Amino acid sequence: MLRDLAKSALRRIPARAFGALSGLTVFYMHGLVETHSDPRVQRLHLTVDDFRATMSALKAWVRFVSIEEALLLLKEGRARGPLAVLTSDDGYLDNHDLLAPVARDLGIPWALFVSTHHIETGARFPTYLTRCFAYYADHGNYTFPGLERSIVITANDASRAVAAQALGQAIYRLPQEGVRALIGAVVEATGQERQAALDMKFTSDKPMSWAHVQALAEAGVEIGAHCHEHAILHRGQTIGEVTRQIAISKQFVEEHVGRCRYFAFPVGGVKQIGPQAATAAREAGFDAAFTTINGTLPASRDPFLHPRVMINRDPHGNESMFPFTGLRFDRALPAAQIAVKRVETEIAR
Ligand SMILES: [Zn+2]
Repeated sequence: MLRDLAKSALRRIPARAFGALSGLTVFYMHGLVETHSDPRVQRLHLTVDDFRATMSALKAWVRFVSIEEALLLLKEGRARGPLAVLTSDDGYLDNHDLLAPVARDLGIPWALFVSTHHIETGARFPTYLTRCFAYYADHGNYTFPGLERSIVITANDASRAVAAQALGQAIYRLPQEGVRALIGAVVEATGQERQAALDMKFTSDKPMSWAHVQALAEAGVEIGAHCHEHAILHRGQTIGEVTRQIAISKQFVEEHVGRCRYFAFPVGGVKQIGPQAATAAREAGFDAAFTTINGTLPASRDPFLHPRVMINRDPHGNESMFPFTGLRFDRALPAAQIAVKRVETEIAR
């Protein structure tokens, strides 16, 4: 059964996708579900079966190594591969319950980047809360702090997708205090009771506790930092907020698991890494930092702006692309890294 799943995944992944895997690729993901109860809300999660099949297929082509080994091979000019690193962001409980057993079965080392406020308190992540509102709030006309236009939820399902997008974009551009205010208002609008019921329904988006993080660390999983409140470190954040988010997350991970060598930028595209962020990550004492700028590691020119490739359900349902929705942008990587740094120089002037 599993062998069949692996074979079917292998068949649907075109050979040209593996051509780009000749170097060293750092993959990233978020979490797993047995089945989706609502993929609109659980859009970061893959099914266990898809994940297992994909990893099994990949294993036939690449050797999975730890971040530490990958960076060493890179430094020594031996990262010609095909090699891969598996990473997972945020710190959802299913990483402990579902991902860890699959990775262990397949002998794949991995790293987990946690947002420490969520591990500490169990608070749900901002974008999850906005999706709950968008897809489950009552019909109505809502105004929110930080949003110029009101959000209108009608009987037309498209209005919910529009709401999800508008709120998601606000999270991506507001300063952190604005995100806190917006999220408070969003949960108020959803209704505390309904939110509690949704949280019961969507256990996929529940953060793990420090006990889970520690159990993973003891089992050999590398634990890295991913900001304290999953703050997106775009250029609109103050330098104080950026430094604080990075420093607290590093400190908390160190206190709970003994070390914290790597950082991953929340969301992590070119627009979500402000000039202060690239510098702050560099100065915080990490060995390396990872973005979601697409590419493979040998093409990377900056150890604090390393690229990653998402393991993703293809949003257009094109199964032949699964799981590499966008591995072929390697040529754009150096330009993207330069774009982040160019702004840094501008601000310094
Ligand atoms: Zn994240």
